[in-house]
Amino acid sequence: MSLLSLSNVEVIYDRVFLAIKGVSLRLEEGGMVALLGANGAGKSTTLKAISGLLGPERGQVTRGEITFDGRDVRAMGPPDRVGAGIVHVLEGRRIFGHLTPDENLVAAFPLKGSRGELDALRDRVYTYFPRLKERARHKAGYLSGGEQQMLAIGRAMMTSPRLIMLDEPSLGLSPLLVSEIFAMIGEINRAEKLTVLLVEQNAAAALAIVDHAYLIENGHVVMDGSAETLRTNPDVQEFYLGGG
Ligand code: ATP
Repeated sequence: MSLLSLSNVEVIYDRVFLAIKGVSLRLEEGGMVALLGANGAGKSTTLKAISGLLGPERGQVTRGEITFDGRDVRAMGPPDRVGAGIVHVLEGRRIFGHLTPDENLVAAFPLKGSRGELDALRDRVYTYFPRLKERARHKAGYLSGGEQQMLAIGRAMMTSPRLIMLDEPSLGLSPLLVSEIFAMIGEINRAEKLTVLLVEQNAAAALAIVDHAYLIENGHVVMDGSAETLRTNPDVQEFYLGGG
């Protein structure tokens, strides 16, 4: 059984605008999958349909099934989906800039957890991102873009997820930082057996680390296959990899 499965999912914004038009995809536990596509293709909307963060007054899943670990999540609110193990790192990081990195991590930890669990999770985050520990007592708003992205990922890890969804983690970062952060995402995927769904416009960077990818255009999945299959596809090369 797949950990996550979407079958023919449709999302409508403002009652009229069909943003995704029957998206189907599957993620196996421990896998690392990318959702690629141009601006406005429907990638963020797909992630929001999974995490429940569409903002019900604007966007609604009007058709299809979303199953996580065998459970239908469509009727569940966002906090229950986090409790089930789905965490969504939104585009633009959304950390608390007036709090320190350490306070950001503590704030993301579930209230019902024990002190011991909190300390263990926080130590794990600092093992992956030692830079955050060095900056633990500065205000997070003063961290660099790369450090803020690390913190956003660290916050997500504080919920002990089974699936982490990352929306454009490369946004605004230098190529060197993108490779550093992507390498760390790969490391976390392997070491924690954490399933990763990565939304990226930077197709080259994403295809370098994932096993499988879906290409979404205009609300439809138009192609899916192994990273190698997509990397060597002439259309992908021309339109998404800068001419290969
Ligand atoms: P980007 O990388 O720019 O976020 P994307 O592939 O993630 O692109 P979406 O953000 O999912 O694309 O947007 C899909 C379509 O839905 C776009 O046409 C967008 O304008 C529209 N859309 C997104 N969010 C909303 C919203 N809150 N209300 C109305 N329309 C929206």
